[in-house]
Order: sequence, then structure tokens, then C-alpha cells
Amino acid sequence: MRNRLVAGNWKMHGGRAANRALLEAVVDGAGAGGPVQCAVCVPFPYLAQMAELLSGTRIAWGAQDVSEHASGAYTGEVSAAMLAEFGCRYVLVGHSERRQLHGETDAAVAAKFAAVQASAMTPILCVGESLSERDSGRSEAVVARQLDAVIAGSGAEAFANAVLAYEPVWAIGTGRNATPEQAQAVHACVRARLAAKSAATAQGLRILYGGSVKPANAAAIFAMPDVDGGLIGGASLAAEDFLAIVRAAHGKG
Ligand code: PEP
Repeated sequence: MRNRLVAGNWKMHGGRAANRALLEAVVDGAGAGGPVQCAVCVPFPYLAQMAELLSGTRIAWGAQDVSEHASGAYTGEVSAAMLAEFGCRYVLVGHSERRQLHGETDAAVAAKFAAVQASAMTPILCVGESLSERDSGRSEAVVARQLDAVIAGSGAEAFANAVLAYEPVWAIGTGRNATPEQAQAVHACVRARLAAKSAATAQGLRILYGGSVKPANAAAIFAMPDVDGGLIGGASLAAEDFLAIVRAAHGKG
């Protein structure tokens, strides 16, 4: 049985006062416990605030990106060791906005994945196809290529301490989510691909769906057998919506 994870991706949103109000409501509403884990992935400058507000709560925190390098002349970059110092548990790697807007290659994403694990944090590896790739029937091939790059760098067993997020690019921030069946088909395919190399690792791997998850569609998506939670963008910025999605992950949708 895999514990579900609902992780918010705040993207480039936030402010110290707004963060505090949002997190107080989320911590209150998330209750004392249960099998669903929660996390928020926030812009770098707010990591210290997360450590202050979330230590001792059941909400973990993480970053949205990391440098593939350990240290050196990389102006503007943030290393995995620095993130670990702020108590990050998770780091998003390979989000489609990084791949598309910042030209991150599969090789760079694989190096970031390894850097996160080397600093004892858990990477959330984002994979997903564009609309034209889906329309030309290449969804599974694209996701397999993105996964294989990381397996080539770190090995299949590395996924014992990782989370995968399937985020079709055409569903991110568009209001158009994948159907539960579309998500399930890709999740099952990814799990089978990993299982061919390490069955136990694949069985334990949490695969999140991300892309326009809202309170109204979360329960149906989470009901799929290979969907182990969600990576939530826009809806993670409103406590009520995020908490409704967490409730859906608990099966109380
Ligand atoms: C995301 O940014 O990872 C995401 C899934 O965004 P949204 O939920 O807004 O589509």
C-alpha cells in the first residue's frame, strides 16, 4: 500500500504575509494525521519561512528547482546542500516550465535528480508530453524517454527514494485535466517500465498526477489504481481548494 502524497507547487507566487495566512489555514485544516502526506514546494526565498511555520506540523516543504552542480561559479543557482540546510524534504526536478522555458534537457534533469538524492532529499521527478506529442500518439514514448534518462544516471533502485509526477504539459494551468483513464494509462505504463528493471521499486513508487487538479475532479483522478496523489499548481494557492483536494486523497471527497 502506497501512502498518498498531495504536493502543492506554488510556482512564482507568494509573499510573507500571504504565505503565513495560507499555511495557517492549511495546517489547521489538514488535521492531526492519516495516511495522506502533504507538502508545499515554494520559491527559494520562502524556505526559511517554511522551516519556521511548518516545523512540527504534518506539512513537509520543498523547492521547485535545484542546481545540478554542487558549488562554484554558477551565479543565480542554488545547490542541493543549501536546500537541505533549510529542511527541504522534496525538490521538484524537470517541471515542464523548467524544461520548456529554461531549456532543461533530460540529461540536466537526471543530474539534478542525482544531486537531490546525494543531499538526502527526495526528488519529485516531473514528466509529461506536449499536446502535439499526445496528438501524434507519442505520450508514452516521451514519458519513457524522460524516465529512462534518470534511470540511466541513477539506476532504477534510486526510485525507492523518489516520487514521480506525470504532468501532461497541455493540462498544466490550462483548466483542462487529463481524464482519470488517460492518467491511469500513463501511470501504469511508467510503473511497468520501471518494474521491468526493479519490480519492488516500481510497486512502492508514488506516481502523482498533475495538471489542473481541482476539488471537482480530484476524487475521480485519485480513484485510479496507479494514481498515488497529486501535484497541485493553481489550486494549492487557496487553502480551501488545497484542503478539499487533500480530503479527496483521503477518499473523503
Ligand atoms: C503544476 O504547476 O505543476 C501544475 C500541475 O499546475 P496546475 O495545477 O495549475 O495545472
